[in-house]
Amino acid sequence: MERDDIWGRLKQNTAPDVLVIGAGINGISVFRELGLAGANVILVDAADYCSGASAALSRMVHGGLRYLENGEFRLVQESLMERNALLANAPHYVKPLPTSIPISSYFDGVIGSTLRFFRLSQSQPRRGALMIKAGLTFYDLFTRKNKVMPSHQFFGKAATRQKFPQYRPETLCSATYYDASVTQPERLGFEIIEQTLAENPATLALNYTHATGRGDGEIILNDELSGQQTIVKPKAIINATGAWIDFTNDALTDEASSLRKRLIGGTKGSHLMIDNEELRKAIGDHMVYFENEEGRVCILFTYQGLVLVGSTDIRVENPTGMICTQEEQDYILKSLEGIFPDIKIAPEQIRFTFAGVRPLPHSNSAINGQISRDHSCVDLGPLAGGSAPVRCMVGGKWTTFRAFGEQVADAVLADLGMKRTHSTLDARIGGGAAYPQTEAQRRRWYQAVMSETGASQQRLKTLLERYGTKARDVAFACADQPDQPLADAETYTHAEIAHLINAEHVANMLDLVLRRTTLAISGTLTTDTLEDISRIFASQRGWDENLRQDHTTETRNYLSAYHGMKQLIEDHIEMETSNVP
Ligand SMILES: Cc1cc2nc3c(=O)[nH]c(=O)nc-3n(C[C@H](O)[C@H](O)[C@H](O)COP(=O)(O)OP(=O)(O)OC[C@H]3O[C@@H](n4cnc5c(N)ncnc54)[C@H](O)[C@@H]3O)c2cc1C
Repeated sequence: MERDDIWGRLKQNTAPDVLVIGAGINGISVFRELGLAGANVILVDAADYCSGASAALSRMVHGGLRYLENGEFRLVQESLMERNALLANAPHYVKPLPTSIPISSYFDGVIGSTLRFFRLSQSQPRRGALMIKAGLTFYDLFTRKNKVMPSHQFFGKAATRQKFPQYRPETLCSATYYDASVTQPERLGFEIIEQTLAENPATLALNYTHATGRGDGEIILNDELSGQQTIVKPKAIINATGAWIDFTNDALTDEASSLRKRLIGGTKGSHLMIDNEELRKAIGDHMVYFENEEGRVCILFTYQGLVLVGSTDIRVENPTGMICTQEEQDYILKSLEGIFPDIKIAPEQIRFTFAGVRPLPHSNSAINGQISRDHSCVDLGPLAGGSAPVRCMVGGKWTTFRAFGEQVADAVLADLGMKRTHSTLDARIGGGAAYPQTEAQRRRWYQAVMSETGASQQRLKTLLERYGTKARDVAFACADQPDQPLADAETYTHAEIAHLINAEHVANMLDLVLRRTTLAISGTLTTDTLEDISRIFASQRGWDENLRQDHTTETRNYLSAYHGMKQLIEDHIEMETSNVP
């Protein structure tokens, strides 16, 4: 459906059951639960879907080994259950990830972690083999009834050296366990929205739509793209704006914010995407989960052909406009050097950076790592005036989005006198539906879609990896028309990009390169790719040459300023200079 049509429907839907403000993964999750329960629910985001913390995660779908130190057993158990559910429901994006922990002592942390567990210490203890063994044993115990991955293993010094020869020489042993990673969290979020819209036609979702209150229960929805407005009076409001929750509450009411308890104490985290062959070889197909000099857990693994390394954990007051600073880059590289001392990373090997704010509950803890990663639903009553209660989705990990959405939906449905009759615990997500898992199933899938669309098996293999079984829609969209590869990104085609622009609520070039594809994060994007993409936009959206150039410049500047893609600007200047006669 076109954006104008969605706005048309929004203007007529003035009294929905529920308005969900914020379409990060948690807002999307509760939108799905409410939509599937038959509610008339509207989901809006001031920016693009999954463009806040839900685009900045370390891409781990995990139990959270280190949360055991904080005594968060319930959270770890729930996360492991959700991880296993995601492996089954979204096999196109969520994949098992063998993880290695290099260990440099046997007994470190036994006293420190025990004190911390009993809240008798706020310091960050180092973790020796014994502590790690205890944590991994719990991990295995929690999943023993629904075991989908191998148990953990310990390796002595010689075996560790053989497997990871580049680990620092002080490494005494290592442990390997299994968690999971998500290849395209932004696409997964969008596919849940798409599915909900299809399953309950009464639901509506709009990106670039900012919500503010009037103090009388009515909410103004502002279209950030066209400037038009509409007013809705929902029966219930869910504030799912993550690190912006307190700001949103302020905007919903004219009540002084000082009268309310602060809900969020966000911490910023940054990541680097590094193109270094030696590092890639050193880690192979494993994630390395290690502690740096100050005892902070860092991670690295091969992601989209580069090595993703992170992260930092810095308190921030305002979550808008986050970038990975030079200090953070230096910190991450220094942490990396601590574990791989012989691997040198050149500045130009950092191809992409990203940063975001964890929407953690407000806390006075001296150590950011000790702030709970658990989620809670805070009911503020009719904060926005009128009678609609405002419920805030505070905290939570990406991994637990389904359980969190279910919990909040149940509370809201009870208010509405409705009940949830479905369960999403075993509901396949988007292109995870009927996903061919074995070689034989894949062959059958290729045969069927090849005969329907005329696409080659090689092309379908690429599309299946990229979109799961939604690849069939893409292949259909590309069929029966002249098509050509995208400049410097040959596995994408013009018709494929045009399809994404038209079918996936794409408002601008950034939505496409950052959140509907992996063109930016994989470091694939060049000035020529951007030029190509802008021409496809121009043909689909009727942009004239000036507008096309403006959009291209804006996109290039944004990627350079917010994602460290300075190369795009340098290449562009070089290209311009070489064109001067
Ligand atoms: C550095 C980092 C690493 C992480 N790593 C992991 C990990 O590996 N695994 C894991 O499980 N979790 C991880 N997390 C946590 C996880 O990413 C977050 O908990 C989760 O994405 C939060 O989702 P959310 O929907 O609550 O918030 P967000 O994704 O931030 O969504 C909030 C949305 O609200 C919108 N908004 C704000 N104000 C308004 C308004 N007035 N009107 C309309 N919309 C508005 C914003 O545009 C935004 O899109 C990480 C987080 C960070 C920052």
